[in-house]
Amino acid sequence: MEFQRFEALKTAIRTASPDQVLDLEILIQAVVSEQLGAVSLARRTQALVQSRTCPHCKGTDVVLHGKDMDGRQRFRCRAVDCRRTFNILTGTPMARARKPEKWGRYLGCMNDHLSVRRIMETRIGLNHKTIWRWRHRFLKAAANDNTPVLSGVIEADETFFVRSFKGDRGWKKGRPPELRAARPSGWGALTRGLSHAQVPVLTALDTGGGIYEAILGSRYAIAEALEGRIAAGSVLCSDGQQGYVKAAVKAGAEHRRVVVTTVTSSAAKAIVGPTKPRRKGRLGLGRVNAHHGQIKVLVNGRCRGVATKYLGNYFGWHGAMVKEAAGTALLDRSLL
Ligand SMILES: [Zn+2]
Repeated sequence: MEFQRFEALKTAIRTASPDQVLDLEILIQAVVSEQLGAVSLARRTQALVQSRTCPHCKGTDVVLHGKDMDGRQRFRCRAVDCRRTFNILTGTPMARARKPEKWGRYLGCMNDHLSVRRIMETRIGLNHKTIWRWRHRFLKAAANDNTPVLSGVIEADETFFVRSFKGDRGWKKGRPPELRAARPSGWGALTRGLSHAQVPVLTALDTGGGIYEAILGSRYAIAEALEGRIAAGSVLCSDGQQGYVKAAVKAGAEHRRVVVTTVTSSAAKAIVGPTKPRRKGRLGLGRVNAHHGQIKVLVNGRCRGVATKYLGNYFGWHGAMVKEAAGTALLDRSLL
């Protein structure tokens, strides 16, 4: 929009009635979410023009340095031992990503937990490879977003994912990543029960919304993984495995073993009359179990399994989506 028309529009808006202002607010919000990527870039440009901080050396003697092929502002650092040029995306996971006009819509799709194929079906105009690459660019920023130390009442438990090399070309190229035949998708583990074929994932949640999630080398590595993660004086609830007890003792926290009663279908039928209502504030593993249910739906359900090396990224995705305004949050984090 040309400058004079834009200024006239701003003047006109100042005379709008309260009803019209509300109307405008809705319109602006819609435009912002459509142009999420472009708006976020503009915001960053403005901030960098103000702060003039070099991402390489953190120096502040920075000058404007023309525009690049995509029309983005470039900057140059004048520090004697730096003298490098950069743009607002330098050093972020999105540094070489193009088409910012599509980032907003794309993040909306991620918000809805759409798989690569489903995103293609929305006719977003990106190819399969780009969609996949962007997913990991955005998720890299959210991965390993662990709360440093958990406190208060903490629920901890493990769950297991089938070890997967989805997408690995090893089998085709004669360098299998594991000595077994490749599995057709959706087969799951070839052996029953817990074995090397299962990857243990430890999750601990506290009452303040803190989360700690770790992919364990073995299911006996619980105490090690929780070391330094629990504040003294907290209450750690678990199924009572040695690792949790050890971790609690070491942290100076109290350990509570929660007896998880497994209700079999025949036992459920045998229950006559209403069951006792759950007492409020009673310790349990309900939240962590619900969390595990959700990440299983995302990883095994929506995405039909993911390669083990990317599991952490998907946990980050889930974590980001649980929070409010996830699309914006994810983008802002990717651009940190
Ligand atoms: Zn510099």
